Amino acid sequence: MTFEYAPAPESRSIVDIADAYGLFIDGQFVDPADGRTFPTVNPATEEILSTVAEAGQQDVDRAVRAARRAYEQVWGPMSGRDRGKYLYRIARLLQERSRELAVLETLDNGKPIREARDVDLPLVAAHFFYHAGWADKLEHAGFGPAPRPLGVAAQVIPWNFPLLMLAWKVAPALACGNTVVLKPAETTPLTALAFADICRQADLPPGIVNILTGAGDTGRMLVEHPDVDKVAFTGSTAVGQQIMRGLAGTSKRLSLELGGKAANIVFDDAPVDEAVEGIVNGIFFNQGHVCCAGSRLLLQESVADEVLTSLQRRLSTLRLGDPLDKNTDIGAINSAAQLERIHELADSGDAEGATRWTAPCPLPDRGYWFPPTVFTGVTQAHRIAREEIFGPVLSVLTFRTPDEAVEKANNTPYGLSAGIWTEKGSRILWMAQRMRAGVVWANTFNRFDPTSPFGGYKESGFGREGGIQGLGPYLDSDVVDHEATVRIGFGVTEVAR
Ligand code: NAP
Ligand code: MG
Repeated sequence: MTFEYAPAPESRSIVDIADAYGLFIDGQFVDPADGRTFPTVNPATEEILSTVAEAGQQDVDRAVRAARRAYEQVWGPMSGRDRGKYLYRIARLLQERSRELAVLETLDNGKPIREARDVDLPLVAAHFFYHAGWADKLEHAGFGPAPRPLGVAAQVIPWNFPLLMLAWKVAPALACGNTVVLKPAETTPLTALAFADICRQADLPPGIVNILTGAGDTGRMLVEHPDVDKVAFTGSTAVGQQIMRGLAGTSKRLSLELGGKAANIVFDDAPVDEAVEGIVNGIFFNQGHVCCAGSRLLLQESVADEVLTSLQRRLSTLRLGDPLDKNTDIGAINSAAQLERIHELADSGDAEGATRWTAPCPLPDRGYWFPPTVFTGVTQAHRIAREEIFGPVLSVLTFRTPDEAVEKANNTPYGLSAGIWTEKGSRILWMAQRMRAGVVWANTFNRFDPTSPFGGYKESGFGREGGIQGLGPYLDSDVVDHEATVRIGFGVTEVAR
């Protein structure tokens, strides 16, 4: 049975988007030194939402100077208890303004309002509340009696969870006593600028948080700035490797959260309906723009047909369209460039002999859209089984035995997450021990919590965000941190648990 819903759009009148935005440096919005700007668009309509400043070298210098001064004179010397008060204040303001921020995120990013409102924003506030609690308890976190902040943190984030990635970076950095200069992604700068306004509203002293909008070059200038002590990057593996090479030989601390190609593994004893919901949530949440997305579905052969039939039936009910509509399940692809990349990889699936199935949903005329897509007959050698598509495209493989599932799941240069669907607790534990992935979900997928560390193995990066482990990358301590060893090879880094 299909249900027809009347349109239920969330009003955008709650957000006030300025025609133009400057850079947020030392507590003020300022014009960029060389006056360069770029537009940011709504990917669902291609409407230009605003014009934002593009930070150049002089602006980066100025922001790092402001952050250094704030670190030495204000934030570094401040007691953890007082830092915590500011963080609690920011967390409360984020909650108070959450509806406005959710609408703004949906407009700039294209994600469904249901997700911005019910997932992104609650998690953003939760990250600030959680880290506010740590600010005065760092000496009890297992990093020795007197862990110290590192200094100025340069932070660069992607466009898939703009405000949430900001929260993952800014909250632990500030809780540990560092000051930050953050560069949001070029296509989603608006919620970071709204966050700058929240810092002002919270009376956070100037220079502790600085926001530099710009493109990849701005990010490069920021991470390479000689007066930066710590670099935290979330984005693609290619750029992560470039940053690592750039930082080699310096004393800067680095953490990288990179790409993924996670296996979502369904055993023959799994409850099929629950597994299907988990598969949908694993790859079609946020249009598949999720680093830990369950983009490789591994089905035990004996249940493959049954699961696929159920999955296709479920996918046929998804609603794609206006991201501001509260009934929308699948929003817009974030940019024309990303849409092109998804097309290119999906076409390679056809060319290499996989079978494409597309959910029957009409696409709007304007904006960037890609329908939920499932490829069957995929082999390990196919590009769509190896490369991160970062879109609503699922590659399905099959296996016969648990050993084969382990072998296939780990056969990837990435290692961010994995999902296991089975009725047997013993099998969950057996599999979890063998997955080379930072997060293993059992009978669920894409669940996040600020108390739980998140991060990668292999080419998915190193360093953790969230939990006690997430404090380590922002602290200087005489004690070996929770990630026991970090082995760095050429372009491949591995963290032992
Ligand atoms: P990206 O191209 O690597 O960009 C990420 C950020 O880095 C953006 O702000 C980008 O600026 C900036 N940047 C580009 N070149 C740079 C350089 N040379 N030096 C410093 N900064 C530079 O990645 P993306 O395509 O936007 O994001 C998708 C990727 O992020 C996927 O691979 C995904 O898996 C990964 N991701 C990982 C996690 C995680 O936690 N592991 C979370 C989310 C996303 P512009 O915006 O101007 O390009
Ligand atoms: Mg945008």
